[in-house]
Amino acid sequence: MAPATSFGKIEWFQTSKKEGNSRFIWIYGNPTIKSGCYEFHPDLQDHIEEAYLAEKKTCKVSVFGTVWTLDLKNMKESSKTSKAKPEIRRVRTSQLKKLKCIGVAGAKYAKTSGFQQSDDICAVCYDPSTIPTRIEKCGHIFCFLCLKTNYILGNGCPTCRGAIPYSMFQKPIRADIDFHIECPLEYAVDCAKMLGPDPKKSERESSEKYYWLYQSNHSGWFRYDPKTEYFIEENFKRKNKSCEVYICGLKMTINFKRSTQEIQGKIRKRKIKRIAASDVYKQHDLKGIAGIRTLNYPIS
Ligand SMILES: [Zn+2]
Ligand SMILES: [Zn+2]
Repeated sequence: MAPATSFGKIEWFQTSKKEGNSRFIWIYGNPTIKSGCYEFHPDLQDHIEEAYLAEKKTCKVSVFGTVWTLDLKNMKESSKTSKAKPEIRRVRTSQLKKLKCIGVAGAKYAKTSGFQQSDDICAVCYDPSTIPTRIEKCGHIFCFLCLKTNYILGNGCPTCRGAIPYSMFQKPIRADIDFHIECPLEYAVDCAKMLGPDPKKSERESSEKYYWLYQSNHSGWFRYDPKTEYFIEENFKRKNKSCEVYICGLKMTINFKRSTQEIQGKIRKRKIKRIAASDVYKQHDLKGIAGIRTLNYPIS
């Protein structure tokens, strides 16, 4: 199991706790050892419960881009590819604490309260925070990528100069981020100013929404952060051959013909692709957004 991080507050966890003792929660991990166990992502709870009540033997779910086969008879994960094969359990919400349940979908329960995803303006980019991310120690909130860029540049917290822990960017897992998060309108307006008028805009007002994905260094795919993605899509729609984006302070070329993301002078290219938003759930190795693992969904 991947190491958990604990930034951002998991709002719905508080809600699930309040709903009384009658509710069942599906958890995975090993309740008997110190590392504890996690609740399955809320997007999966009903799916697993329904399969269980229908007395199905197995049930498939995608967990951060890996397909898990849940063996509902022997109560364990049983896919051929997985190494860990965690136990699974159906428990009452009141039992979670006793069973050393420490978080949701790999992300630890937040210790602090009062944080919620909001329209707060990020002090770095002056747009509403995209993938709002809180430095646990000082409590200041910024866009995930604004904060990461700041970290890479060797600066502290943009507001108070306090330390930004490296662990925030080490294979981050967030259970509080919606994968389908949209680009802030403010940025879309800036983008239109930068790129000039789009002659075919009216034609595509009602057309389907698309996501741009990049291949992870390890395995699977991530969606670009919504602002970078918006800029890429606008260039694509204007039929430009390529465009340049800055990600974490690095200038990269998005090459539409080759479907790659390239850094000048570097041989290694990342593959990229454009998929319809409605096809997200067919892409079983899609892990999350902007390098943050977020995506869990039922398969069958
Ligand atoms: Zn920002
Ligand atoms: Zn701060």
